[in-house]
Amino acid sequence: MRVATYYNNNDIRIDEVPKPKIGPGELLLRIEASGICGTDVIEWYRRDKVPLVLGHEIAGEVVEVGKGLTRYKKGQRLSASHHVPCGKCKLCLSGHETTCDMLRKTKFYPGGFAEFVRLPKINIELGGVYPLGPSVTFEQGTFTEPLACVLRGQRLARMQEGKSLLVLGAGISGILHIMLAKYKGAGFIAATDLVDYRLDFAKRLGADITLNAAEQDIPGRFKGLNKGEGADIVIVATGAKAAHLQALESVKRGGTVLFFAATAEGETIPLSINDVFWRNEVTLTSSYAATPKEHMAALRLIASGKIAVEELITHRFSLDDIQEGFRLVAQARDSMKVIIKPQGLRKD
Ligand SMILES: [Zn+2]
Ligand SMILES: [Zn+2]
Repeated sequence: MRVATYYNNNDIRIDEVPKPKIGPGELLLRIEASGICGTDVIEWYRRDKVPLVLGHEIAGEVVEVGKGLTRYKKGQRLSASHHVPCGKCKLCLSGHETTCDMLRKTKFYPGGFAEFVRLPKINIELGGVYPLGPSVTFEQGTFTEPLACVLRGQRLARMQEGKSLLVLGAGISGILHIMLAKYKGAGFIAATDLVDYRLDFAKRLGADITLNAAEQDIPGRFKGLNKGEGADIVIVATGAKAAHLQALESVKRGGTVLFFAATAEGETIPLSINDVFWRNEVTLTSSYAATPKEHMAALRLIASGKIAVEELITHRFSLDDIQEGFRLVAQARDSMKVIIKPQGLRKD
């Protein structure tokens, strides 16, 4: 079978490797659609692991079912988790499932940018498989993971109806945050980015106001637009250092900042303890990845049409043209979700 082997953002090679063989309790999935994630193009994060086959936002069809597995059948359409938490350790039991050692060790083979993927027994046993249901296309199915991460983030940031929100960065995760917040009844949503193409998406998909961060004093403008108050919740959905600093200045007393993105390697920010914390009761929090439960909840939102994720797809490429897809995502300008279709560009 063919796979895309990643070396760096400008060096992705198409290789021929043996189709994975499955054992008892495992599944072989034919990958129909696979999303490129913002984290796929963070070179420093991948540097020590290359060459590797990336791709963790997948959807496909079961083509082989391992012995002893009765819950799944050939022809079934699925999304699946790359990583799954054990559900039993202290971290899992305390609600920090995505920091579990098991989550960091598990993965499907070889990765989503391939014609076929083997889902290991442990991933299946721990609940990392999500049947798509008849109304969900493969392309929509690839959003199960990114939307699950956003659901987790907003839960930890205690997002509720009526709250004011500032989303810094209008890439895929920023826009998914906007769409979810809108669905949950946010009172006021502002979004920032440096690229107008992305701000247009934000506006169209739920932001009340968009601000180009290259041209505006973000904390000041936000307060001006929000009755003089900072945001109840600030979500940092970009690795830009400037956005992290703006977040601390834009959050209101008693508000929450959710750090959702990775930054450049070794990035740090200065933080005034008196201004941010003392007397202000600001919460700084973060979230990483998502649990199987959150994947299921995300898929329900997609299936019911409540979050129209397909609106975010701007590009589709065959495996042969994956390099162009990575170029677009790394550039982070006039693209939103880029989907790779290992079986070719036939209609979903
Ligand atoms: Zn992702
Ligand atoms: Zn665990």
